[in-house]
Amino acid sequence: MATTVENRIGTEAKVLQSHLGGKWQAGAEQGAALLNPTTGETVAWASSKGLDLKAAMEHSRNVGGPELRKLTYAQRAEMLGKIADALAARRDEWFEIARKNSGNTKADAAIDIDGSIGTLKYFGKIGAKLGVAHMLRDGSPARLARDQNFQGLHVGVPLDGVAVHINAFNFPAWGLWEKAAVSLLAGVPVFSKPATSTAWLAQEMVNAVIDAGVLPPGALSILCGSPNDLLDHLQLGDVVAFTGSADTAEGIRQHPRVRQRNIRVNIEADSLNAALLGPDVTPDSPAFGFFAREVVREMISKTGQKCTAIRRVLVPAEQAGAAIDAISEALRKVVVGDPANATVTMGPVVNMTQRRSVEDGIRRLKTQADVAYSSESLAPVDANLEKGAFVPPTLLKTRSSGEAELVHHVEVFGPVASVVPYRDKEGAFALARRGGGSLAASVFSNDTSFLAEAGAALGTTHGRVLLVDPSIGDSHTGHGIVLPSCMHGGPGHAGGGEELSGLHGLWFYHQRVAMQGAAATLTALSQQAADPRD
Ligand code: NAP
Repeated sequence: MATTVENRIGTEAKVLQSHLGGKWQAGAEQGAALLNPTTGETVAWASSKGLDLKAAMEHSRNVGGPELRKLTYAQRAEMLGKIADALAARRDEWFEIARKNSGNTKADAAIDIDGSIGTLKYFGKIGAKLGVAHMLRDGSPARLARDQNFQGLHVGVPLDGVAVHINAFNFPAWGLWEKAAVSLLAGVPVFSKPATSTAWLAQEMVNAVIDAGVLPPGALSILCGSPNDLLDHLQLGDVVAFTGSADTAEGIRQHPRVRQRNIRVNIEADSLNAALLGPDVTPDSPAFGFFAREVVREMISKTGQKCTAIRRVLVPAEQAGAAIDAISEALRKVVVGDPANATVTMGPVVNMTQRRSVEDGIRRLKTQADVAYSSESLAPVDANLEKGAFVPPTLLKTRSSGEAELVHHVEVFGPVASVVPYRDKEGAFALARRGGGSLAASVFSNDTSFLAEAGAALGTTHGRVLLVDPSIGDSHTGHGIVLPSCMHGGPGHAGGGEELSGLHGLWFYHQRVAMQGAAATLTALSQQAADPRD
């Protein structure tokens, strides 16, 4: 199904097909409308009604898996590089779709699209180091008993099932490829299910990669439209990597098939991420400026629709006024409107349902907080507020830090953050931990020993902690940016998952086995395997 993107943009909304069982297939109805959030116009339709997902998953398992695992890690790594090249060649088209279907500005689209291409290239590069191996090795053979000849070795054997990847609406490109890169490198075929509301970009990218002919048959499938009975067909050897809301995650964990078959599941869910201004920082110090800039960047980047975005802004009580002033001054410069206009710095949220959810979330937070900044009358540039899913950037301040509960539980998935004043550093750490487990926290201070203390204090409840002193104020990659070399995921509320972290991420797609035997046997086995730490 090699269609060009031009005939899908602006003119007529197309029905997205799914690539299943090695061919493009349409659902049995027009299905759900995918919208342009700036105008409310329909840009595509998606339906999975009537598609035989059982047969499609069997095709992935029985054709895609063996084809992939015939290749070495190095060959599969090379494939990732070719996928990245195929995608990079059509980068402008992806940006156009991201604008039309997600309301992305160029900067927003770059995080998603360039982030996905960069992640594929990264795994292409580090995967090559695993060479001609077909298995992973964890360390070297070690003696297990008095007889020196009896030894043990942990190895990882690629799973022989299918990797079901279920993604959230906010990263249709990166969500697809950050999971697929690791899975394909491991030798496990990908069965991707993008969020319906923004599936267009994911579908076109898969289309481009299938057309490029760089993958063996059955290695990459995509299901557009609702998941239907997808999870009912999971079996031994399959995995589910899910990104989305905590409610959907709970449904997946509780799915009878997942429970009965103990299907391996990785969950990336909601998160109430915090930025913490150190007690030593005064408004005239550079750390203060870096902190305020990061809070604003996180509020408006992707219109606040990043799972890692800063939701809670923890500041010493005596600096709350100055922090609000600095953040508000920058928010005043934000230009909301149609991302097609180059002056616009923040587009709409993904659709009217999401806009209502953000408005409702602000209303809930306001029962325990006051508005510290919100543009008085939102007039989006080149857009109509009645039709577009626009929300103003909104900064709140909790009335009573100790008692305000909602700020630690309610994820408002939009350009919204709350200032929460604290009394002392122990109080600040306790507030950060009240998120119940988060993806990311960032701490800003001039004092490196305070930063180290904060890192240790926040470590148990966070997946990633960014510790910023002025020496890295301009060079760090940002609070909300997920790097393929670092772990992505967080405990508790954030889902308890782990993704990426370089080659470590491969273990999710391997069965770890303790091999026991004679030294010569284990040496022979060990020679077929690569240690991802080497
Ligand atoms: P969502 O409503 O939970 O949907 C996520 C995905 O799950 C979609 O593909 C959805 O398909 C699918 N889904 C829905 N019901 C399902 C079911 N019963 N079985 C299997 N799949 C099902 O989340 P969203 O609104 O797209 O995304 C926003 C949320 O994702 C936010 O809360 C955000 O914090 C979170 N998020 C987390 C991360 C992270 O890495 N931790 C990253 C990005 C976003 P349909 O679209 O077809 O319903």
